[in-house]
Amino acid sequence: MVALSMVPFLGTVRSTPSLTSLAPYQRQISMRSSSISFRRNGLFPFRRFLQACLQSSFTSEGAGEKLPPGQSEIIFIGTGTSEGIPRVSCLTDPLKKCPVCTKAAEPGNKNRRLNTSILIRHSKPSGGCNILIDAGNCISVRIRTIDAVIITHSHADAIGGLDDLRDWTNNVQPHIPIYAAKRDFEVMKKTHYYLVDTSVIIPGAAVSALQFNVIDEEPFVVHDLQITPLPVWHGRGYRSLGFRFGNICYISDVSEIPEETYPLLENCELLIMDALRPDRSSSTHFGLPRALEEVRKIKPKRTLFTGMMHLMDHENVNEYLSKLMETEGLDVQLSYDGLRIPITL
Ligand SMILES: [Zn+2]
Ligand SMILES: [Zn+2]
Repeated sequence: MVALSMVPFLGTVRSTPSLTSLAPYQRQISMRSSSISFRRNGLFPFRRFLQACLQSSFTSEGAGEKLPPGQSEIIFIGTGTSEGIPRVSCLTDPLKKCPVCTKAAEPGNKNRRLNTSILIRHSKPSGGCNILIDAGNCISVRIRTIDAVIITHSHADAIGGLDDLRDWTNNVQPHIPIYAAKRDFEVMKKTHYYLVDTSVIIPGAAVSALQFNVIDEEPFVVHDLQITPLPVWHGRGYRSLGFRFGNICYISDVSEIPEETYPLLENCELLIMDALRPDRSSSTHFGLPRALEEVRKIKPKRTLFTGMMHLMDHENVNEYLSKLMETEGLDVQLSYDGLRIPITL
């Protein structure tokens, strides 16, 4: 049940025998291969600059409140593409007006979307526990402590906020455990080499203190919560992980679900799934028609879509989806930044 392949360490690489299986560290930044690709991805500094201008006014409002005993919840931290919604290119276009980005420019509008991420607030007898899935560009989660971050894959909109975690590790808590597949850890050793091996940092400079744990595709436990990886394809030959906890399944970046993953999705109460655009799929993401096909196949009790681009108008698409409840009994809606769903774990 518990993944025995976890390899925990904090900051500087320690020469324990369990670490010798990891590849030697390369102290250079490489932006090749899997760290860059496609629609929902982007370059770290430029994206961070843009998204600093696009902070969602919804994000994790109320996330600091105490949970009632036994009551856990999910908060949608971000539900959009890598560039965020509104797109700066749409807002500055002198020739045409993008209807969704124009609406999204208004604070509080449900079309306003940051990088895809959720927060699990797990209620335990010993106290609450905050587990974040993905730390995208300009992470904005209003929560006092982060007990763990689980990574779906190593595109910039899933790991571009690792630097921003330093606000917590400098000011609130000593470190944050990160759980990532070995392939994604290998990418982080290049993109965030100074967080993996802190011995390269100039004395006095402060970076996030992260404790990296390598996971495989077997179930593992984070602060008493069992997490089951849901391996999926996110473009041809590129693996991403969804995660199941309790009867909730979260798959944020997917273009194909392998046959062997479907049994892990059985008896799903709440499915949170990728739906990039209204008309068709891309090479790396489900579009709405394909996402709905998968919902009909998986048969969850309720579905919330995430990862929407600016062609997905919140009100219009939700109106269309509401009709599926009447015609097919499908409980399917778009999520939005700041949406809170009570859950039982
Ligand atoms: Zn737009
Ligand atoms: Zn991605």
